[in-house]
Amino acid sequence: MIKHLFRTLTWPEARERAEQGAVIVIPVAAIEQHGYHLPVDVDNVLVEHVTEEAARRSEGSVLTAPMIHYGFNEHNMGFPGTITIREYVFIDFCYDVAHSFVRQGFDRIVFVNGHGSNQMLCNLASAQCATAPARAHWALAKDAVDRLRQSEFPGGMAHACEFETSLYMYLRPELVEKDKMTPREAPSNVNQFIYDDLFGSGPVHMVNRWSRISESGVEGDPLLATPEKGREFAESSICNLVDFCRVFREQTVPPERDFNYSNERLD
Ligand SMILES: [Zn+2]
Repeated sequence: MIKHLFRTLTWPEARERAEQGAVIVIPVAAIEQHGYHLPVDVDNVLVEHVTEEAARRSEGSVLTAPMIHYGFNEHNMGFPGTITIREYVFIDFCYDVAHSFVRQGFDRIVFVNGHGSNQMLCNLASAQCATAPARAHWALAKDAVDRLRQSEFPGGMAHACEFETSLYMYLRPELVEKDKMTPREAPSNVNQFIYDDLFGSGPVHMVNRWSRISESGVEGDPLLATPEKGREFAESSICNLVDFCRVFREQTVPPERDFNYSNERLD
């Protein structure tokens, strides 16, 4: 079987895979509260499944890097169980990981993110790196969400909600405490300008302190979750990630140029 996890390679194998133009997928997650009914590792478990399975199905053309387990989480520190990494430390850390792959000769690197507040920081690390786009895994599941979503929009799918709970029920059913699920809370749906949802936010962006607006820590409706939906959401993310990596790998990367000065002196 062709290895699909970067951590299992020897160094000569890593060099070989760089020469073959493998795409590196870097999963990025968080350890944070997910309501009364889910463990704090939800973001880790979901993004790990999507990225490792996409690499496994790509027959050697994609390698999943070891995950960045912790994320930027200041807004959730009012709840126990949450770990936060300061924003500049996080950006630098993500950049250093991606740039280490660049130094080995990999020129196709993708951050796949599993935690909302990481996204803008992953975008910055990705912009510094120039060969590493960043995408949230839920955005890759949009086809299945459009088909199956029952939660209201906006605010119904945001955190420990129908989407995340369905996926966790599918992947780790024994750890979902169904009797502790709380009915719908949509605290970020503040007004017509400020609202938040995994699938679209309002024109004004505000990351509120979670403890101000949610009792349980949930945003959305976990009671609408099912493992069947979770399987469909995961499949959609995995298939889209496989397709993206294939297109990304085939795309040519023109050399960077500098038009700021002419090499010929005009005396
Ligand atoms: Zn989450």
